[in-house]
Amino acid sequence: MKRRHFLQTGLIAAGAVALPGRLIAEAPTKPGVLKLGSQEGRLPGATLKEKVANLEKWGASGLELGGDPSSRIAEIKEAIKGTNVKITALCWGSCKGDLVSSDAEKRKAGIEALKKALNTAGELESTGVIFVPCFHKQSTLTPDELDKVLQEILPEIAEHAKKAGSRVLLEPLNKGETFYLNRIEQAAAICRKINHPGICLMGDFYHMAKEEKSDSEAFTTGAPWLHHVHLASRVRWLPGQDKLKEPDQPERSFVDGFRALHRIGYQDYCSLECGVARGTDPLEAIPAAFDFLRRQWTEATAG
Ligand code: MG
Repeated sequence: MKRRHFLQTGLIAAGAVALPGRLIAEAPTKPGVLKLGSQEGRLPGATLKEKVANLEKWGASGLELGGDPSSRIAEIKEAIKGTNVKITALCWGSCKGDLVSSDAEKRKAGIEALKKALNTAGELESTGVIFVPCFHKQSTLTPDELDKVLQEILPEIAEHAKKAGSRVLLEPLNKGETFYLNRIEQAAAICRKINHPGICLMGDFYHMAKEEKSDSEAFTTGAPWLHHVHLASRVRWLPGQDKLKEPDQPERSFVDGFRALHRIGYQDYCSLECGVARGTDPLEAIPAAFDFLRRQWTEATAG
């Protein structure tokens, strides 16, 4: 896809218009949808097929996998064959910060590992590969230095991603986990600079509750590059389970964020990445969380 074409389609799909220095949301060409899913490890089931069957039974259709499941491609394809379930993101992570290491050999190996994961993601027709540049203690570089390293390494990775039919998804995390990318606007600034369809971003409601002033503003800023969303409550349990841990605190609301996803025309998945409240059975608690999220989506999109 030519660069100009990407920019146009990316912005139109996101329902946003680029103005110098900012983005303003406009009516999308089609409204956003709520497509629910989960990380594999969160789902009950003795086999991958059982987990997929549970997802379908609960009206969800996205399966997120951990790491680089290149050795399991046949098993994964077989498990989703004949179902509505699609592979969403590969939750790949930081590779111990190797891609931004000052050790040239480590950096090279990290880049190759990410490229390999992108090949797997393309093969599985997934949404992309989640990449965290570094967690705490994985880099001694400053944020400015890390920006420069990413500008050096990402264009080549972006080209590889495009050829593989996939994309990198930069994930901002809260300050308890990383000193580097904490907010969607920071990931968006990198995407804007690299300016390639192979480098995109995602949002995680758990981290956003800690770091973003407004879920809707964050998603709107990231709209042209947003291709995945993680779901968790404020205490990182299933959505709707906050009060089981903190009865006096309000339940984490998804309404403001969902309103933005609807407005910007979001078409990708929202995937559970969370624990389950002690004493609750995932076989009942996960479908209840999906119902809670559907009610919040209805509230967000009513009228
Ligand atoms: Mg996450």
